[in-house]
Amino acid sequence: MGANRLIKGETGLERFPEVAVKEVELKRELDTYVADLHIHTVLSPCANVEMIPPLIVQTALEKGINLIAITDHNASANVSAVQKAAARASLTVLPGMELQTREEVHLLCLFDTPEQLAAWQAMVDARLPDLENDVEFFGEQFVVNETGEFIRREHRLLSVSVDFSLREAVTEVTRLGGIVIPAHIDRQAYSLVANLGLLPTDVSFEALEISRFTSPAEAYRRFPQIGQIPLIQNGDAHSLDELLGTTIFRLAFPSVAELRLALLNAGNRSFFVQSG
Ligand SMILES: [Zn+2]
Ligand SMILES: [Zn+2]
Repeated sequence: MGANRLIKGETGLERFPEVAVKEVELKRELDTYVADLHIHTVLSPCANVEMIPPLIVQTALEKGINLIAITDHNASANVSAVQKAAARASLTVLPGMELQTREEVHLLCLFDTPEQLAAWQAMVDARLPDLENDVEFFGEQFVVNETGEFIRREHRLLSVSVDFSLREAVTEVTRLGGIVIPAHIDRQAYSLVANLGLLPTDVSFEALEISRFTSPAEAYRRFPQIGQIPLIQNGDAHSLDELLGTTIFRLAFPSVAELRLALLNAGNRSFFVQSG
């Protein structure tokens, strides 16, 4: 349970003073959330055809996961379909996206509301290079409904860098009320650590994501440049068997604000990465 590396006695709020917490909110009862905050759908060209809303929801429930985020590459058109598919289940679906920045770094961008996500998507669309997807090379990009039926193809190439610097992306997502978590920092490609080496000094991250192929202890050892930044683990699921559910949060409510508190170890909120 040693994922949170904050020094004992320190809540972490000192590092992020903008996270204001009311005393009354801190006293709310907490629930346990088994989370996988990095899941692709058939809108991502690299995802399997089985990654449709009802099967994602069914698989999450079978694995005891009750908090997920849908994070397609530079796109979000299937988020609401997964939310509808989960409407009657004990499963929260956070609206999200996996952005590829100008530096070719992948960032999880997580939000609370469809409006926040739509505002972010509009900004991304305006800066996405106007290229046609090469289906043969990259794969199909399908928008589907909540039962997984085909609605349309996304013709714009999604496997590409959006003209946002990492810093701009963090600024804009945060301004909209979302949170940015750099993805799979232990991977050789499209990761903050692999692409930049050192972490940027002008951006603060509340958490970093590690893949299924490492543990927090191993990542802290291999990448000393990440310092004490909290690490979460997600499946980066491109197929159903890749849904993971090894990051456990204690939250009053499944929201971005509550995730922030848990990552800061504040207000009794907490999280840990279960060792596989
Ligand atoms: Zn990625
Ligand atoms: Zn991904």
